[in-house]
Amino acid sequence: MKCGFCGYEFAEEDGIRGCGKCGMPGSCRMIRCPRCNYENPPEPAVVKKIKKLLKKS
Ligand SMILES: [Zn+2]
Repeated sequence: MKCGFCGYEFAEEDGIRGCGKCGMPGSCRMIRCPRCNYENPPEPAVVKKIKKLLKKS
């Protein structure tokens, strides 16, 4: 996925998940950029599928 702030591309697994401090009910699903700490919304599964298809071709 790509950070919406600095444009840094990183694997979702490499992002910092579950901050637990932002006060959102339940677990926070935002993924923080490892570079600038910007909170990105998780990438929808549909987007991931499209990206995989694009990579294959
Ligand atoms: Zn960033």
